[in-house]
This record gives sequence, structure tokens and C-alpha cells, in this order.
Amino acid sequence: MSATRPGHKPKCKRCRNPAVVQLHSHHTAFCRDCFLLYFQRQVQRAIDGERMFSREEPVLVAVSGGKDSLALWDVLQLLGYRTTGLHLNLGIGAYSVLSRTKTEAFARERGLPLLQVDFGAEGHAIADVVGLTRRPACSACGTAKRHHFDRIAMEHGFPVVATGHNLDDEAARLLGNVLRWDMNYLARQSPVLAPSHEKFARKVKPLFRLSEYETAVYAFLRRIDYVIEECPNAAGASQLLYKDVLQRLEAEMPGTKQNFVLEFYRRARSQLFAGNLEAPTTCSRCGLPSHRPVCRFCSLLDEVAAKRQGVRPLAQTSS
Ligand code: SF4
Ligand SMILES: [Zn+2]
Ligand SMILES: [Zn+2]
Repeated sequence: MSATRPGHKPKCKRCRNPAVVQLHSHHTAFCRDCFLLYFQRQVQRAIDGERMFSREEPVLVAVSGGKDSLALWDVLQLLGYRTTGLHLNLGIGAYSVLSRTKTEAFARERGLPLLQVDFGAEGHAIADVVGLTRRPACSACGTAKRHHFDRIAMEHGFPVVATGHNLDDEAARLLGNVLRWDMNYLARQSPVLAPSHEKFARKVKPLFRLSEYETAVYAFLRRIDYVIEECPNAAGASQLLYKDVLQRLEAEMPGTKQNFVLEFYRRARSQLFAGNLEAPTTCSRCGLPSHRPVCRFCSLLDEVAAKRQGVRPLAQTSS
């Protein structure tokens, strides 16, 4: 972090009014209005630069009720895009109840359309799946989320699904993938995942240039009421450790996270993986994209059903 002289009040780099936020990685400071403008421009730059979607395309925005996804929905609306929210009620106790309440209130107050999927009603509330299968919660949750993003996008005619992943999420994910040298995940880590299957919606991350801090400031300045509590299953996740390590590097060397992620996208990824992505085939059960004959989600449902009946699952879940 750069030091501020005692008594020195930073000024907005754009309009010279008193600044309310300092961005050390950009060596700059902004007043409220200029920060909001900066935020919008970063999102627009991500959308245009990566050709995420056009103004004519309807965008399905995955909204958890947290600051990132609600900030994303908010800024896309302000920028004039056609958006519909998709909330997945994961069935993780009080956390899920609060997440749904905040998401519904956000949509209602702004008159925005919101689609919902209730994992409990679908028979796979995450708390039940974990209890029955002993799988790590985040693995089961991620599998189910990806399935429903594609299913809802396909059923409702959305060519694109936007998620609220920010720069910190991308940096932590990249660090984890590099530490394991997971070439498959590295190849698929991108701000835009283009459809490689007719039933596969384009996945985009319009906040990938903005840090978690910047998203939190945006949500605060825009008075967005979001769920502050983390998912109880996030505690102890390696992702949090990676974020902590990266934050310590960032504190000593502002701009580290930005360089790490943006240069991977700009230079390294295309050189490492040009044309190497294996296209998925089709799951024989649900008809959605899969890299195996029966997709991970259908295998998960088999496992849950088998545990409920006390028998072995039909399809093995490991790959
Ligand atoms: S922390 Fe894990 S279980 Fe909780 S919402 Fe995220 S992926 Fe799902
Ligand atoms: Zn200003
Ligand atoms: Zn399937």
C-alpha cells in the first residue's frame, strides 16, 4: 500500500474533488461519481474487449445475493443491457434463506425479472447431498450450479450466462490451477467460455478486471443490500487461503493480482492452449453437454438416489 501523508486528503484524479476511494494498484483515487464511472467503464471494457455479448442479446445473470453478483446485475442494467436474474436456492440452511430474500428484494425494488431454481424442491439440497454422499460440499454445489445454468439458459433462450467472478476470484483460481498444474482447468479458465456444444451457453465474467475491494465499494456506493455472511461451506476452502496469500503480495506490490490474471489471459493462455480444448459430447440422460457418457450432475443424482434407497449407484461419479 502506498502511504498517505498525515493530514493529506487525497483528491479525485479525474475532477479534483475530495476522493472517497484510493486504488493503489492503479495509482489513483476517485470521488463517488468518478469511481462509479470508472467501474462502469471497466465493465464495458471487459464486455467489448472480450466480445462477451451485444446489446441485442438477452443475458442471464447468475445472482447469489452476494455483493459481486448483485453489483454485476446493477451495473449491467445501468449500461442498458437486457438482463434476467437467475437465483439458485442451494438448500444450505439460513444462508440460503437470507440469500434468496436479498436477491428477491433487489429484483422487486428495481422491477427486474428473476428466475429461480430450488435445489430442495428438485431433490438435491446441498446439505442433503453432502449428508448422503459425503462429497465435499463445493464439488457437489459446483456440479449442480453448472448444470442448472445451462439448463435454464437453454430452456429460456439465453445465449449467454454472466457470473460475478471478480479479479480476486480469478487470481485465486489461477493460483490454485498453477500450483496443481491442472492443464484442463487452466485451458478452461477464461473471461469468456465460448459454446463448444449446441446446448452450452456462453459463460462470461464481466467483473474480471475489478477487484473484490472495488466491487465492495461499488455495492456500498450504490446502496446495494447484499448478503455479507459467507457460505458456511466456504470456511477452510483452499480458495480463501490463495486469496489471503495473493492479498499479502498485493499489499507489498500493488498491481500483482492484476498482472497475474490479465497477463495470463492476454498472453499466456492463448500460447499455451491454442486450439487444445476438447469439445464436450452429450449426456445420455439429460441431453446437456458432458465430457463423459453420463454427466457429473446426472451421476450425482444417481448417487443421491442410491444412498436414499440404500443401494450402489448405477453410474460411477469419479472421472
Ligand atoms: S462455498 Fe461451496 S457450497 Fe457454498 S456456495 Fe460456494 S461452492 Fe456452493
Ligand atoms: Zn471525481
Ligand atoms: Zn446429465
